[in-house]
Amino acid sequence: MKKTLVCKIDKDNIDIDKIQEFGKILRDGGTVIFPTETVYGLGANALDEKAAKKIYEAKGRPSDNPLIVHISDKEEIHKIATGIDDRVYKVMDNFWPGPITIVLKKKAVVPSITSGNLDTVAVRMPSHPIALSLIKESGVFVAGPSANISGRPSPTDEQNVYEEMDSRVDGIILGGDSNVGLESTVLDLTGDIPTILRPGGVTLEDLSEILGEVVIDPGILEKNENIIAKAPGMKYTHYAPNAEVFIVKKDDNYVDKINKLVDEKVEQGKKVGIMCINKNKDKYKGEVIGLGDDLNEVAYNLFKTLREMDKKGVDIIYSEEFEKSGIGQAIMNRLTKAAGYKFV
Ligand code: AMP
Ligand code: MG
Repeated sequence: MKKTLVCKIDKDNIDIDKIQEFGKILRDGGTVIFPTETVYGLGANALDEKAAKKIYEAKGRPSDNPLIVHISDKEEIHKIATGIDDRVYKVMDNFWPGPITIVLKKKAVVPSITSGNLDTVAVRMPSHPIALSLIKESGVFVAGPSANISGRPSPTDEQNVYEEMDSRVDGIILGGDSNVGLESTVLDLTGDIPTILRPGGVTLEDLSEILGEVVIDPGILEKNENIIAKAPGMKYTHYAPNAEVFIVKKDDNYVDKINKLVDEKVEQGKKVGIMCINKNKDKYKGEVIGLGDDLNEVAYNLFKTLREMDKKGVDIIYSEEFEKSGIGQAIMNRLTKAAGYKFV
């Protein structure tokens, strides 16, 4: 058990003295949880092997799953990565600071604990003002995976991050909700064709517009023993609440199908939760939670709702299926993993 320094900081009126205190913890090799626009991150000095190791310990994360290195200034990318070509500049110019991570060949300063033994490094400049200020004040490169225990949904709000991670890290900055709600897009620019290794806040459509041909790594769309996802993290169980999750295919009679399933399970003594688009909320029985009016709201609420379902003590969650365009690709990727690929 660690004594954790916990502090609320207002992102619109940043208390720089407090940020400097947390920055010092990072500089001294400690761990600090901080808000970003995607999800909360669990930070440590990415170039300090001992510090980076603490991240894996705090999360219970497998050590072959590499960490994203966060920077507060685009120029810093040159210190840790090579192969920075026109495509990299285009992505940085259009989307940084923001929810996209770029995978490039790494420089020797990046230890293998941070790169998960790969010869590449994942880099992102977040847009959240607290994240940017913390990275800058720390004076170090900040490795920062999602601040959850490995396998659990990523935390996107103060209460959940505090409940799960207090006394596991040296510091926690509470800075309100993450407004994207899903992790960054991971884009591999080491090969000839830009490849999305994880769908996220910046969509395939956004990227194709500036880069031309962009492909999605086939390993992340379906469970296929023969295809191995290129982002090591994609192979692990992820985003899973305690309840068993099923995605209900959106065919002609999905509403009836869900209600029939709810009846069956309730009969068996189970508590059932439903996740749906807001306009369908009144159509279902059981513990119904509307995820939002549109896909952006669904992204924002998805992880929080999975955790809320756990708090309600539901045994089974049925979720509506969402269209796979725009941010819907990332939503369905997380949902499919939370469901362990189970569709009904
Ligand atoms: P997290 O920071 O927990 O949201 O996870 C980071 C994601 O980026 C995981 O899916 C990692 O496997 C992936 N990732 C990080 N570094 C690399 C890399 N060098 N090559 C490919 N994927 C990476
Ligand atoms: Mg994660």
